[in-house]
Parts: sequence; C-alpha cells; structure tokens
Amino acid sequence: MSECFMCNIVKKPASALPLFISDLASSRVILNPNQLFKGRTFVISKKHATELSQLRDDERRQFIEEMAYVAEALEKVFNLDKKNYTLLGNVAPHLHWHLIPRYKDDPYWGAPSIINPERSSPTKSTRNASKRFNAISKITDVLASPVHAWHYACYEDRTEG
Ligand SMILES: [Zn+2]
Repeated sequence: MSECFMCNIVKKPASALPLFISDLASSRVILNPNQLFKGRTFVISKKHATELSQLRDDERRQFIEEMAYVAEALEKVFNLDKKNYTLLGNVAPHLHWHLIPRYKDDPYWGAPSIINPERSSPTKSTRNASKRFNAISKITDVLASPVHAWHYACYEDRTEG
C-alpha cells in the first residue's frame, strides 16, 4: 500500500469502502464520515497530485467538472441553503475536494465551514449509520440519473470504460 492515505482509498475496491458513492472518470466520490453538515462528500482525484497545477489541462478541467457534477447532485438530494467547496490538502496532501452542504440552521451558518467540526463540537448525529447509507443511496441515484448526467461530459467518460 502507498503511504498516501488518499491513494490508498482510490486503490481499494469500492466494496471495501462502506462510504463509497461512485467512481467518475478522474475521481472517486465517497461520503465524509463526519456528517455534521448533512451530505458532506469527498471528491478524490484518482491521480496522485498535491496541487491542481500538477494536473494536465485536460485532467484539471475534468477533475473540476466532476466536482461541480457531484455538487449539483448534492443540491438535488439535500435541501441545502449554500454549497461550500474546499481543496486544502494540508493533512492529506493529495487532491480532494470537500463538498460541504450548508444549512441556515447548521451550527456555523454565516461562518466558514469547520473542517473537523467534531473536534470543536461533538455531535452524536454525525455517527448515525442509517442516515449515512440513506444519503449514499440518494446521491448515487442522482449521479446515475440520465437527466443529471446529461449536463456533464464526465458521465459519458465514466460509462465508456
Ligand atoms: Zn496520493
């Protein structure tokens, strides 16, 4: 196994990842185990790179397009009030988006997303497994729906392989 945490996630079979949502052309989509912000999701580059500038132009466009594609799916699934997109890589230096749905009644509404909210505000609701799996199934359905995919070339790429 690689020493890169995110590379290991990308290389594992989907069946080994309980929070797996979907594989797109250039990224793997998994639910973030921390669901304080309901629907929070990772979009992880399948290629190891630490900066967007390390991707070829076509790879970067594809990766960003897929991030937007997943964000749109989250908007369809959750009754969110705002979407936050972050690409940090300080702890896990491998390109991965944090897609963070925000809600007017979330504990940090009006402030930047807290990346590790459980450290500052423990909540039992983030550990509700059945809610997680319900979310995964809904997001997967939207990503696979032709009406949603029609807007995004990445779906065509994904289905060719
Ligand atoms: Zn990596």
